[in-house]
Amino acid sequence: MTSPTKPAPIEFINLKAQYAALRDNINARIQAVLDHGQYILGPEVQEAEQKLAQHVGVKHCVTMASGTDALLVALMALEIGPGDEVITSAFTFAATAEVIALVGAKPVFIDVEPDTCNIDVAKIEARITSRTRAIMPVSLYGQCADMDELNACAVRHGLPVIEDAAQSFGATYKGRKSGGLSTIGCTSFFPSKPLGCYGDGGALFTNDDRLAQAAREIRVHGQSKRYTHTRIGIGGRMDTLQCAVILGKLDRFEWELGRRAELAARYQQLLEASGSGIRATTVRADRDSVWAQFTVLVERRDFVQEQLKAKGIPTAVHYPMSLNHQPAYAAYCCPECCPVSDRLAARVMSLPMSPDLDFAEQDRIVAALAEAVRQ
Ligand SMILES: *Cc1c(COP(=O)(O)O)cnc(C)c1O
Repeated sequence: MTSPTKPAPIEFINLKAQYAALRDNINARIQAVLDHGQYILGPEVQEAEQKLAQHVGVKHCVTMASGTDALLVALMALEIGPGDEVITSAFTFAATAEVIALVGAKPVFIDVEPDTCNIDVAKIEARITSRTRAIMPVSLYGQCADMDELNACAVRHGLPVIEDAAQSFGATYKGRKSGGLSTIGCTSFFPSKPLGCYGDGGALFTNDDRLAQAAREIRVHGQSKRYTHTRIGIGGRMDTLQCAVILGKLDRFEWELGRRAELAARYQQLLEASGSGIRATTVRADRDSVWAQFTVLVERRDFVQEQLKAKGIPTAVHYPMSLNHQPAYAAYCCPECCPVSDRLAARVMSLPMSPDLDFAEQDRIVAALAEAVRQ
């Protein structure tokens, strides 16, 4: 029931409307798996890998049980371990640094740019040591970092680059696709990501035959053939059912990307017109974002979030604390090492964003936001 004083709550990410639009497609794909019964590495896995590789424009896609596993397997395939250092962004989801620590290496946190929130590439070179084994940029909120400059720096030092593309599947950088811009790209199909399944899932992308083979083996307990364990691996396969969901969603994905771009542009126009002074994160001219998050910077964030919540408008914070302050990671970095990340962590706020958000909802969100910041 809706009343004029209390309009219906808005979904932060409207997966129900997406399912309603794709119901026949997704149901048929799931039913096919239930009928053939190959729940592990069934035909949908190969079909999804082939279509995803084609989408990204790389030779190999290896699906994984999650985005985190894809990142972990990337490090394992590159044989990174104790005593090694991996350079990454301080302002990201914990999984990026977690996998570095999990293999026994040390995450080296670099501060980010204040407008894009992506790793500040100019600050990388000074932090490279004889122990550095890889650079792991994050394509935060759906936009790639300065990958050409970053790759050039990596080449100068003979280092591989692993792109954490968990939020940026479908994004382009100078006309090329995120995930295919470096040695390895890793994405996530967590339900709320731009391309999501109905549980956990992820994928690793590479043009390197040897790394792809290593990743395939590590994914199945390091087996080069059945019961021949050539290396230490993990149980890291993506379920056939989850690959079926991805296949069911791919048909509408290009439309969804266009719709996300349209909604983001409209958000920017509405914010501008609102006179609230609120701005979204910047997207550079030579790339586009898939807007995994539509994130703005606000002062008095707790207050603003409360005001919006009271009007049925959910918001989220990605992320409230940069990793160098997190208890599990504080030992890797001094608390003052990333002042830009600290400023952002106190101010970022993500607004509802998904292809099925409608214009009326957007109008409501921006009006409520403008009112909250004026109070
Ligand atoms: C979601 C996410 C991950 C982890 O992906 P999962 O599939 O949830 O394991 C890693 N890095 C970033 C930046 C993410 O947003």
